[in-house]
Amino acid sequence: MTDRPDKAPPRRPDIAAPGAVKQITSLANPIVKDIRGLALKKHRDETGLFLGEGLKLVTDALEEAWPVHTICFAGSVRAQNVVAQAAATVHARGGTVLEVSEQVLGKITRRDNPQMVVGVFKQRLTPLADMKPGKGDVWVALEQVRDPGNLGTVIRTIDSVGARGVILVGETCDPFSMEAVRATMGSLFHVPLVRASRDAFIAWSRTSGARLVGTHLKATADYRAVASDAPTVLVMGNEQQGLSEPMAEACAVRVKIPMAGRADSLNLAVATGVMLYELRRAAL
Ligand code: SAM
Repeated sequence: MTDRPDKAPPRRPDIAAPGAVKQITSLANPIVKDIRGLALKKHRDETGLFLGEGLKLVTDALEEAWPVHTICFAGSVRAQNVVAQAAATVHARGGTVLEVSEQVLGKITRRDNPQMVVGVFKQRLTPLADMKPGKGDVWVALEQVRDPGNLGTVIRTIDSVGARGVILVGETCDPFSMEAVRATMGSLFHVPLVRASRDAFIAWSRTSGARLVGTHLKATADYRAVASDAPTVLVMGNEQQGLSEPMAEACAVRVKIPMAGRADSLNLAVATGVMLYELRRAAL
């Protein structure tokens, strides 16, 4: 196909109405201080907001119509169509549009080489009662996951294999921390997130119609014996303690991934990946 010389260049979308873009260069600006505060869990809990870094992540969120609060971008990327489009979308949805200096972005993200686009979003969780696994569905329950990098990686893997979502059971790390959000690479916006106490999760599982497949280092069943189109919740244990007794007992089946070397166990996110590829084998 040849380029048509007479073809009009694509029209750059207007960022927003005049005056809708606020410009900030001062590191002491109170808006900058508030956004920077989102690095702290206390501030995220108080505001119900969180920070997502990078243009891909911001466009993923906007495509999913995720509730957006603010978009910040560096003046150097203002002319890019995709940035202007994202800013126009945020403005149209009632959010704040900020053009900031790269120093301000560095301060907000606490990085020397910050991303040129950053979004502030509202936290969103799916209620446990809305989780209704159907035929072929796979969910992942993480009991007391502590490492935000593991959590983000698991969410990204769930998205990659077309599993349905994640249930955070008990006291877990914050899925809206900067580290966890970064590790999801945008999948946070595509994967429903449920939170439940251990008791509530076990009670839900008894009436849900889903089978619980637990992973346990002391299990005798092989992980390759679990493929089925029955609605399934894969249950993964904590990084240090593994699965608690009550969770292990609630599982219809417990499986182990064999290991040939001298390591005691696999990393949680790696083990989840291996299990998900087995459980989703027929769909991939
Ligand atoms: N010391 C912990 C224990 O005894 O269970 C190790 C926990 S391991 C790092 C974290 C989780 O990954 C486990 O609870 C389990 O869900 C999963 N896991 C890791 N290696 C596994 C394996 N070889 N087979 C089955 N599950 C495994």
